[in-house]
Amino acid sequence: MYERFTDRARKVMQLANQEAQNFNHEYIGTEHLLFGLIKEGSGVAANVLMNLDVDLRKIRLEVEKLIQGGPEIVSLGKLPQTPTLKKVIEYSMDEARSLGHNYIGTEHILLGMLREQESVAGYVLMNLGLKLENVREEVLNLVGYRAIRGAGRADQSPASPSSHVPLSAIHRALWEHEYLADSFSSSAIEIPAELARVMNASLEVVQRHRAANTIFNGERKLNDAVIAELATVGYWGMLTPPEFGGCGGSLSAVLSFLTRVATFDPTVAGLFSVHSCIGPVNMLVHFGSPEQQGRLLPPLARGERLGAFGLTEPNAGSDLTALRTTAVMDGDDYVVHGEKLFITNLLPGRTLGLVCKIEEVPAVMIVELPAVETPEFHLVRYGLHSLQHTHNHGCVFRGLRVPTANRLLPPRGDGLQIAYHGLNRGRAALCANAAGTLRVMLANMLPWVRFRQTHGAAIGTRELVLRRLGRMAELIFGCDALAAWAAGVLDRGGRGEMEAIVAKTFAADALHEAAVELCLKTHGGRAFLVGHPLGDQLHDYLAPSIYEGENEVLLLAFFKALVKPRIMRLIEPSPGESESTQPSFLKSLLKPLFGRFFEQPEGSFPTTVTSANDETALALADQFVRFARQIELAMQSEQAGVANQQLLMAALARDVARVTVAAVVHHTVVPTALDRTALSQGLIAEAVAMNDQEPAANSHHADLPRQLHQCRLGERILAGEWPELEALATTPIMQTYPQEN
Ligand SMILES: Cc1cc2nc3c(=O)[nH]c(=O)nc-3n(C[C@H](O)[C@H](O)[C@H](O)COP(=O)(O)OP(=O)(O)OC[C@H]3O[C@@H](n4cnc5c(N)ncnc54)[C@H](O)[C@@H]3O)c2cc1C
Repeated sequence: MYERFTDRARKVMQLANQEAQNFNHEYIGTEHLLFGLIKEGSGVAANVLMNLDVDLRKIRLEVEKLIQGGPEIVSLGKLPQTPTLKKVIEYSMDEARSLGHNYIGTEHILLGMLREQESVAGYVLMNLGLKLENVREEVLNLVGYRAIRGAGRADQSPASPSSHVPLSAIHRALWEHEYLADSFSSSAIEIPAELARVMNASLEVVQRHRAANTIFNGERKLNDAVIAELATVGYWGMLTPPEFGGCGGSLSAVLSFLTRVATFDPTVAGLFSVHSCIGPVNMLVHFGSPEQQGRLLPPLARGERLGAFGLTEPNAGSDLTALRTTAVMDGDDYVVHGEKLFITNLLPGRTLGLVCKIEEVPAVMIVELPAVETPEFHLVRYGLHSLQHTHNHGCVFRGLRVPTANRLLPPRGDGLQIAYHGLNRGRAALCANAAGTLRVMLANMLPWVRFRQTHGAAIGTRELVLRRLGRMAELIFGCDALAAWAAGVLDRGGRGEMEAIVAKTFAADALHEAAVELCLKTHGGRAFLVGHPLGDQLHDYLAPSIYEGENEVLLLAFFKALVKPRIMRLIEPSPGESESTQPSFLKSLLKPLFGRFFEQPEGSFPTTVTSANDETALALADQFVRFARQIELAMQSEQAGVANQQLLMAALARDVARVTVAAVVHHTVVPTALDRTALSQGLIAEAVAMNDQEPAANSHHADLPRQLHQCRLGERILAGEWPELEALATTPIMQTYPQEN
């Protein structure tokens, strides 16, 4: 029964037994379990209870009011459980199931306990002045899931106000030493019939226009007819709930579809993400009031209006504290002044999710732009090498009036919370789009390496070239797995910030590497011919490193998100405790945080692996703990100065991101023609070998086995073992010549 219990959860059960014996009780009840949860001291449940100011002394007083001690002599050993406790254990399993976890942790036990109000533990908590639903919400926030209010449909609103940073799978592997294989995986995707119909019809539209060469207009921008036909079949409403005219697909389902769309046309896939993920659809679905949703979503779902996302300004890109666009209330309107830059899909008549400042605080408004340029709103035009098939403009606002009813109010924080919420989805979508784009890049390599002969043999027989094909396949598999994983976390209500950054930075680096290191070298001089798919789109492969956050700047954000829960726990005063009684940041950082790591003998790590005990999982779990130790050591030696050590932070973040990628490709099951082990091996080896200090591992030979493995993969792809690639339309080889023989 307890085989799926984590080590901490088992310890809780043992402590509950011990506590019953301390009371001389002949049974274990929910009150003993409550003691066990607190005494365990480091799990999610203990943290939630401590944060809520529930301590052993207070519980003991309350329990003693409700229950008397037992007789002097009781039997030692394992005591029987009360029926209520048994029910709580069953509930905890149920809670784990509904969160998609196949292990039982202390958080599930606490959630199970909260469901049984008619219990001693329930009364104790209520007598301490706690509302059980608030405790539940705290637990869900801490594990990264929003509260599910009411029966049936999950509440679409974001997590309620809380000072806690949700624990992602990465946090748990680093700081809790709980490497939970399931949390790095993603579940099978369900595609309801209506969504499948929309998907098939949308693909038909794109394929037909591609075949007829009508996908772009004379300016080489996406044709209005394509946009309108996609609207007719429901493409633009795939993520909008049915009550507002869409078909309410899950992000996982839609992103896996966007990968397919990108194999036909990445612009159509990218525009969907701008409209629905970073743009106004997501903003309204998650942050709009019912009135705003009912009024503004249907035209977006029907594709009568397309969306854009207006954050960047000439003076504010990476630094959002520098935003200058303002909105000032005047009667029933806000009056907007300012300038935006680099806004994809910005045209008159579009619906803009505008990030601006209202009374110095970042805010978001949905702006239905006028149908034509006006003195209050006009475009700033420039040439742009990347995203050549969509419009991208700046704009100037000079007193544009926007109804106050169009301002979105986040339940916590300022308007940037709304922008980040969409960016998390956009970054996952970027990764899904890259998975399709990389497929087309690889598909275009195959006919060429079969055709091109040098020194009497096709270049596709050479190791240097075969390795590139294998590496391309690994990158594609990585993007597939990461997009599915990040989307799964977001679908389950997780915050997804770290997952989305890992997915986005991996995908953008993959496109960069594929273009410059793999495809360019393989296509040789022809890559520079006008009309060659690589040369013509080179900027499109490089731009994802910059938009939606430049990759290295994102790594710094990732680092901060990594260490935040660790630091928060130390610097946040617990309820009732004043700031002044807290040890200073640095003092508190040093001892409790690092003490136990110094006591660890070199090379041994306090790793807990649950739910996957294979060799690779163990090695990856060890890597997480190793990096946790390195981060803590760095923070100890640099102290607050670590915030200025960008190279160090980026390097540590990159290491953790790489091992995360390895964990995701190891555990994620995404459908693929080639076997998963072959596709994931290289990415895993990259992560596991990273910290090997042996001189041999750092020599230039160390990477040979991995490269040879990539060659074998390349051979299999060339032999046609990935039929999906052979079916993709490719650009004819340029400057061809008759082959000898
Ligand atoms: C094709 C394309 C499409 C885009 N679409 C949109 C859109 O639809 N909506 C939108 O709002 N924006 C959009 N953008 C803007 C994009 O998000 C920004 O370009 C990006 O966030 C970087 O901002 P920036 O260009 O102002 O870079 P800057 O802020 O000028 O930074 C330049 C570089 O300096 C470095 N740097 C900056 N700050 C730091 C720091 N603190 N520490 C270390 N290094 C630092 C980084 O390497 C950074 O890349 C788009 C951009 C492009 C190229």
